[in-house]
Formats: sequence, C-alpha cells, structure tokens
Amino acid sequence: MTAPPELDFASLGAHPSLQRALTQRGYLAPTPVQAAVLGAPDCDLLVSSQTGSGKTVAFGLLMGRALLQDAETFVQGTHPRALIILPTRELAAQVQRELGWLFATTRARLVSCTGGTDLRLDARALKRGAEIVVGTPGRLVDLIERKCLQLSSLEMVVLDEADEMLDMGFREALEILLEASPKARRTLLFSATLPKTIQAMARRYQKDALSIDPRSGAPTAHADIQHTAHLYARGDRLATLVNILRLADEERTLIFCRTREAVAELHQQLLQRGFLVTAISGDRAQHERNHALEALRSGRVRLLVATNVAARGIDLPDLGVVLHADLPENGESLTHRSGRTGRAGKKGQSIFIVEEGAQRKAERLFASAHLRLHWTAAPNAESVAAHHRKRLEAELSATPMLHQEVSAFAAELLLRQDATTLLTALLARALQAQPKGEVLKPISPPAIKRAKSPLPVGGAMRAFEVNLGLKDQAVANWILPLICRRGGITRREVGAIRVARDRTYFEVAAEVAARFAETAHARDPRAPHVRIGPATAPMPTRSFAHTKLPRSAPPHRASRAAIS
Ligand code: AMP
Repeated sequence: MTAPPELDFASLGAHPSLQRALTQRGYLAPTPVQAAVLGAPDCDLLVSSQTGSGKTVAFGLLMGRALLQDAETFVQGTHPRALIILPTRELAAQVQRELGWLFATTRARLVSCTGGTDLRLDARALKRGAEIVVGTPGRLVDLIERKCLQLSSLEMVVLDEADEMLDMGFREALEILLEASPKARRTLLFSATLPKTIQAMARRYQKDALSIDPRSGAPTAHADIQHTAHLYARGDRLATLVNILRLADEERTLIFCRTREAVAELHQQLLQRGFLVTAISGDRAQHERNHALEALRSGRVRLLVATNVAARGIDLPDLGVVLHADLPENGESLTHRSGRTGRAGKKGQSIFIVEEGAQRKAERLFASAHLRLHWTAAPNAESVAAHHRKRLEAELSATPMLHQEVSAFAAELLLRQDATTLLTALLARALQAQPKGEVLKPISPPAIKRAKSPLPVGGAMRAFEVNLGLKDQAVANWILPLICRRGGITRREVGAIRVARDRTYFEVAAEVAARFAETAHARDPRAPHVRIGPATAPMPTRSFAHTKLPRSAPPHRASRAAIS
C-alpha cells in the first residue's frame, strides 16, 4: 500500500533553504499551526496559538517565503525587513535561537533588542545592519526615539504573545511601533487568547485579517492517531504491556524499546507468555530481519519488537498500534515512532506506558511533540476479562454456522438440562481457554486527580526553596502557581510560603515531596534560571519585609516570564 499524501513542508510552499534546515533538525511534518499558516493566503493573520505549538517556526517560514522569494540568500540592506515584537527577554532569546538555525544558510542577520541590556550595544548592532529584528516593545520604542531603529523598510511585523504584551501594559508602545511601520506591511498577530482588546487591536492595525485557530480542525499529518498514556506502579512494566497487548489482540502492533538488550528481553518475555511475536534490532543479520518482517506481513505473528533504528526505513504492513514500551528519547522520535500507524486514512493508536513518578518528565516529552494527553489507568486483569467476554459475545451473535449434527446434539441436551445451566457451563469453558490478564499493583492517582483530594490536615511537610525572592519582587500568590507547575502538584499540597531577600522557602506535603523534588529539579527550558530544591536553611517564621511590598505588585518582567 502506498503511503498517504501526508502534508510536508515542501507541499506547503516553505522556502527550500528553510526546508533543508528543518530536515536537518528532524522536523519532517508540520505542526497544526505551521500547516495552517503556511496554507493560508498571503494576507494578515490573527492566529490563536500556544507556546509549544511550533508557532516560531510557523512565522519564521512565512517570513522566509515572503522575504527571500526565489533568492537563496538575503541581499544585505541597511534597515530591517521584518520585526518581531514579543513580551520578554527570555522569549526574545528563544525566538532568536529558533530563527537562528532556521535561517542559518540564508545570511539573514538577526538582531535582538530587549530591555535590561545596554542600549548602546543594540544601537551598534542595528547600525551594522539587520534583516530581522526581535525585541520587546519598550526597548524598540526607545531605539526609534533615538533614531537607532528605522522601520521604513519593514515588510512584515509579527506580534508574538500579543495578549501577554497587553496584560503587561505595552499597549501604547505597540501602537507607536505599529504606527511607525509602513502601511503596506503584513501584520501577523499570535496570541494564546483572543480577548476583546486583542480583537480591537487586530481591527485597527490589520487589514482583513484571516483568523486561524489550528486546534479547530486544520489538517495534521497525524490526525488519525489516537494517543493514550498509562501510568504503572514500579515493577509492573511487563504486566502492563501484557494487558495492553491482550486488549489489542487483533491489531498488528509495533513495540518500541530503547536498546537492543531491551528488545531481546521483551521478545523472550512475550514469547513465554504465549504471544505470537518477532523482533528486530540492529544486530540481526539481514536475512533474519527479512524473515521477521515476512512473518509480520503474512500474519504468522502479530507483534514486532524493535528499536527505533531497526524500525527506520522498513516498510511495515498496516499497523493498528504503536506501543512505546520505553519512552522515546525526544519529541521528534515520538512523532516518528507514532507515525508508523494511522496511515492511509486508517485509524491508529499510539500507546505510552510511564512508571509512576516519571509522569512529569513524560508530560514534558509529550509537550515537545505538541501532544497533551490524558492519563488513564492501565488495563488491569478485570479489563482483560471484560474484553474477552465482549469478544465472545460478538462471536456468538455473528451469524451462526448451522451444523445439523450439532443442532441435534443441542436439542438433545436441552431435553435433559436447563438452558441457563448449559450456557453457563459452555461460556465458562470458552472463557477459561482465554489468557488471563495480569494483576496490577494500585498506583497513587495521577496529579490531575490528586487536585481533588484534600491536603492531609496537619500532615508532615518538607521544606524547599526557589531562587526567586524579594529582589525579584516575588510574592506568595505568584510563586504558588510556579511551584505547582514545576513540581506537578496542586496548591493543596503546598503549605507555608515565606519570601526571603533572594529566595523563597515553601513547604510541600511529605507524601508527595520525593516526587516533587525529582520533578521540580528538572530544568524548565522556558525559565532555565529558576531553580527549585530542598531548603538550604531553616524555614523563616514569616516573609522577609513583606509589608514593604504591595500584595498585588506586578512581578518583575523577567520573573513573570518564568511563571507563565
Ligand atoms: P514554539 O511553539 O515556537 O515555542 O516551539 C516549540 C518547540 O517545537 C521548539 O523546540 C521547536 O523547535 C519545536 N518544533 C517546531 N516545529 C516543529 C516540528 N514541525 N516538528 C517538531 N518540533 C517542532
């Protein structure tokens, strides 16, 4: 069967130099927002988009197409041709990095101008010339007023995280920048939410903008794949896999492990449990690989265990399920693995299993592949039994084959025995012949559910600290969501919060403290400078000089970015 005509960057008209950069990075399929904006006509756009949606590459690709046209590289001029306005220094650095690799071979000069840095450096960089300028509103206005920045050659203006900029009080600065830009420019407005203020701004500064909400049905390469994530208790990995495979017993399934050793081990374990399974890993001879693939294609086996490398480039028959026995290394690998199913318009399933405690890490992985998954309990022995009953019922209600001899025997038995007793005995026999599901250990409910359970009153607490304090204008009510987000816990699991000069101490319920410590310790790429760890000093009895700060003081700009 031929592969479906999946959307790719070439078919969406991305510039060839940028396409090469994407391929080198392993980004083969566009995200929904990329597919939607590249597929739109060349007009102003009002795009609903979240961080993590791939929006930076989306506007980068539009920029590349509009500014380069048929040229391979930029003809370097004096004034910028594109301006990206965004709310924070962190976001500017992120966007500059992202466009840096995307435009690497095009000789584009990218200059970033953000508050909190030496303005003279920005002025010097702009004087040397820039094709694309990325900056925060206040600094850009300063540079215009000092005549260091000229907007007269702009062909495209992007407002990134526009709602955030309005919330932060940048409205006036944005108006100055938009008024100073040429009327004939294209304006792209990206915003997570579209409140009235944003809509009013769009009406005033955009021309017949096309609204795009990629979540509302733009085609995606993997629209036919249903993703599921299950948590399992320590020691239950194999049992969880077995139960999932018992439920998917009619589907051809590709099972991914990280290493050759893991492939060999799981292959053996599944054989021992009676599954028709084969395996390939890089070290097998070619004829063995062919043999394994032939077994899968002919239907002699239903399951194939493989590493990413072994599965790459091989033409597998229709797969109903991709099962990740080990989590993929990163978002790209996840997308590649899952893309082995859901092909040619058929529905496919991609199933992840995650050990309790690694939930937060897995969520980061899913987010990097633009997935937001709901955690569901792994199928247990009862689910497997229920599945067998359902299948048996379906088999029995299918048109029966009429065997005269059997019918006569049935009639004879019914003369001697009660029908219910007979049927029960027959069903019991049929069900007994089915393989049993594995009994799983209970897991503590995932974080989402924990939110509903009350904090143990007077329960033991552990002290932690985060390196944001009074110097960052920290206050408890914006530190709290940061703690919860970074550690995957709920507000009910956080006790006292004490803001000190250069850090904030806080308590976490002892029963979730170990998991919290592990999850919160992981670096958050959006706010790499924010670090959380066990308290290095005793918890103060009250917040330091709390009264000096207005309770509702808006957090410091950079810190706001850290909690968003
Ligand atoms: P953004 O929403 O722009 O912050 O992007 C989030 C992350 O997604 C960044 O690390 C990008 O490099 C990555 N990304 C962008 N486009 C793709 C793609 N087509 N496939 C996989 N990852 C992507």
